[in-house]
Amino acid sequence: MQDFLKQLNIDSYNPAYSTGLNWGSTLSDQQKEISSPVDNKLIASVQWATTEEYNHVVQTAEAAFIQWRQIPAPKRGEIVRQIGEELRKLKIALGRLVSYEMGKIYQEGLGEVQEMIDICDFAVGLSRQLYGLTMHSERPLHRMYEQYHPLGIVGIISAFNFPVAVWSWNAMLAAVCGNVCIWKPSEKTPLTAIACQHIISNVLKNNNVPEGVFNLVLGDASIGHSLASDKRVPLISATGSTRMGRKVGETVANRLGKSLLELGGNNAIIITPNADLEMAIRAVTFGAVGTCGQRCTSTRRLILHESIYQTVADRLVSIYAKLPIGNPLEDGVLVGPLIDKQAVKNFTQALDEVKKSGGKILAGGEVLSGEKYSTGTYVTPALVEAQNDYPIVQQETFGPILYLIQYKGNLENAIAIHNDVQQGLSSAIFSLDLREVETFLSYAGSDCGIANANIGTSGAEIGGAFGGEKETGGGRESGSDAWRAYMRRQTNTINYSKELPLAQGITFDI
Ligand code: NAD
Repeated sequence: MQDFLKQLNIDSYNPAYSTGLNWGSTLSDQQKEISSPVDNKLIASVQWATTEEYNHVVQTAEAAFIQWRQIPAPKRGEIVRQIGEELRKLKIALGRLVSYEMGKIYQEGLGEVQEMIDICDFAVGLSRQLYGLTMHSERPLHRMYEQYHPLGIVGIISAFNFPVAVWSWNAMLAAVCGNVCIWKPSEKTPLTAIACQHIISNVLKNNNVPEGVFNLVLGDASIGHSLASDKRVPLISATGSTRMGRKVGETVANRLGKSLLELGGNNAIIITPNADLEMAIRAVTFGAVGTCGQRCTSTRRLILHESIYQTVADRLVSIYAKLPIGNPLEDGVLVGPLIDKQAVKNFTQALDEVKKSGGKILAGGEVLSGEKYSTGTYVTPALVEAQNDYPIVQQETFGPILYLIQYKGNLENAIAIHNDVQQGLSSAIFSLDLREVETFLSYAGSDCGIANANIGTSGAEIGGAFGGEKETGGGRESGSDAWRAYMRRQTNTINYSKELPLAQGITFDI
């Protein structure tokens, strides 16, 4: 067994759930083999949780919440601080596992673990800053203020492409806010989740934290649906495709629960004639081929002014011809595999469709074969000349396809193309012209949750609120005041007078 798997306690067999301190022996006979997209080798087997096991986890979480909410927020922050310390110690091993199980390059695997460490640090500070406002009452000798209370159980459904970071954004904030959480990771990447749960278990044991504060249930969409439809779970934070978000959003809304949805993107960069082209081209390349195009913020559309179109297209074609593609754990490789063969099929089908619509493939688009690529999951990132209104360009294809789209005339034309999709996650402009940049960032500019200038669409920092508009779901996670989603606001009015005046001067004498 590889050293990093041993270090993270990933065995050949792994259980179906954990309630933080205790791991569940499973009743299920559904054994799932988890293989790496890197080399197709079996990493370990896991079990999917049964309904009985799921219910056991929810009951344990409910009991833990009663205790956890009594612990002062800064003390909860101390537990999260220690989790961050453990992650620091195991950063290399966990970064390797992220890379091996998901397929992103090792540097990005390390980056993902760093993001977890960063959010732990952020949450520790936040644990002393769960501020509410005070207001002046219109009534004499009255005081008004608001305070934030925890919600209870937060259900976290996560996607395969950020198998651990997105969970930690949710779980660490939820925990300092006084919630307990139940994590349902992607069925494609359960091992990184198990590794995190092992790391957390040690911290919880050392601090006598009640069992059930951080929980894990493994399974596919059906266990995700159990969470979404469960009235005992007041908030569902779900990250994944818009298709999934629509179902989860509907299920949670049906029981009038809260949902926080982080869904698909169709992110674009506009490059104007006033851009630093070299800088723009580097950002575009990272955004389009990094994580093999499997980031929610990956650059999918490049909107180029006609005067620079050919120059940029030619530069990208020459860069794409030399991209080092291969085992993501090897030094120098910049593009690893897609997650599985279905993702490869989606990639090739999208390219067939764009050709049918009249698009032209300028580079890449091949499925690689041969000894080094025998898994069938490695592809060459594709550069495609296209129009924004082609049906396939309007969709998010979760792979490395970059559509080059021309605009003529002024920036407003580019912005109109930019906003003419259903998704609204991340966006960027490359321009050194202040007027162009400010227009793009204004109310008349990008309609996305993230809008950058002279930085690409992917690679967000944890300090800002992360999320998008339109079919991206409207949720915000991570930094800024995203913590409020994990709490319920209570407005309090206290009368310390000897009278009982009514608001708005209403008289009601009895
Ligand atoms: P997916 O939608 O296939 O699955 C995501 C998660 O949802 C998995 O855990 C899955 O088991 C669960 N799920 C699926 N159907 C469900 C249902 N009906 N009820 C409950 N749970 C259900 O997504 P994926 O392929 O793992 O990830 C890729 C997608 O995620 C892309 O669309 C990407 O843009 C998006 N994503 C968005 C963000 C963001 O922050 N906006 C971040 C990462 C990924």
